[in-house]
Amino acid sequence: MSVYWSDVVSRLTPYVPGEQPKIARLIKLNTNENPYGPSPKALAAIAAETGEALKLYPDPNSDLFRQAVARHFGIEARSVFVGNGSDEVLAHAFLGLLRHDKPLLFPDISYSFYPVYCGLYEIDYRTIPLDEQFRIRVDDYLAADAGAIIFPNPNAPTSRLLPLDEIERLVAGKPEIVVVIDEAYIDFGGESAVSLTQRHPNLLVIQTLSKSRSLAGLRAGFAIGHPDLIEALERVKNSFNSYPLDRMTIAGAAAAMDDTEWFDATRQKVMASRERLVARMQSAGFEVLPSAANFIFARHPAREGGQLASALRERGIIVRHFRVPRIDQFLRITIGTDEQCDALLSALEEILG
Ligand code: PMP
Repeated sequence: MSVYWSDVVSRLTPYVPGEQPKIARLIKLNTNENPYGPSPKALAAIAAETGEALKLYPDPNSDLFRQAVARHFGIEARSVFVGNGSDEVLAHAFLGLLRHDKPLLFPDISYSFYPVYCGLYEIDYRTIPLDEQFRIRVDDYLAADAGAIIFPNPNAPTSRLLPLDEIERLVAGKPEIVVVIDEAYIDFGGESAVSLTQRHPNLLVIQTLSKSRSLAGLRAGFAIGHPDLIEALERVKNSFNSYPLDRMTIAGAAAAMDDTEWFDATRQKVMASRERLVARMQSAGFEVLPSAANFIFARHPAREGGQLASALRERGIIVRHFRVPRIDQFLRITIGTDEQCDALLSALEEILG
């Protein structure tokens, strides 16, 4: 028996997410979650929505969440778009803003979902190589004939940060095209480009609550930009799903945005653990790229990345390894608690002998 798929489906190469193991005792350092858990205020707000309230549809505009984002950044709510995780926000941006006659540009080593969206929406794209130190070179983008530009900052999986003045040089140098900065990891040492959206109407900044706000399981993300860009995203959203965010997500995400104290305390802990882990990995002979994220990207001169990842797995620790040219030697390791990092270091010591 055969089923009849559309041509588009036959051509898709879907994104393969990091493993979500069913065994709880594994130390999970593979998908950049935050080990400290969500704000207790967010958990209480979510719990308050789980009873009788669920018989009612959620607010189709998710105003509570939008307003909380606007308050956090000191901007207007009409400059904010919200979605189910930044993956959904990105999907809408690809369809609504990044499809042009000229190619979309992004780095050759970057978030591996970007080419998947290009496949889904039939967007022509070109990748731009990172430099020898795995940095984004703004001049390469300025020199190219582009329909639009997107990259994560800090980049993933390399963890390297592009300074804010370089982002501004790019958006100011290409005022006629949309530039999307995916700031999934910006809260771990970077400076957000949200401030630039006020004077650059071609800039869209996307963030998530999955990392610095430890709500990967809730699925909440947002975009900030000129109201015209936000309007384009709204049009895509309203042609896709009438009630995209559920009641728990709207309430929990709003409360998490408001709980600045929890946000600051937990991200400071992650950054302190990162500095400690980097120093110890370096002592163990690893090269670690400078990280402004809640993960590090590290390689050992004498060991193949895939082998190290398997050896760690045998010891109950999972990290991410990409079978991709140029980064095959590297491991992407999420910053866990100090205890988890210590378990990782002991396992590495054992493996390296
Ligand atoms: N952008 C980047 C660069 C990411 O690494 C991730 C996490 N996989 C996302 C966006 C999506 O995160 P979420 O959908 O959980 O908001």
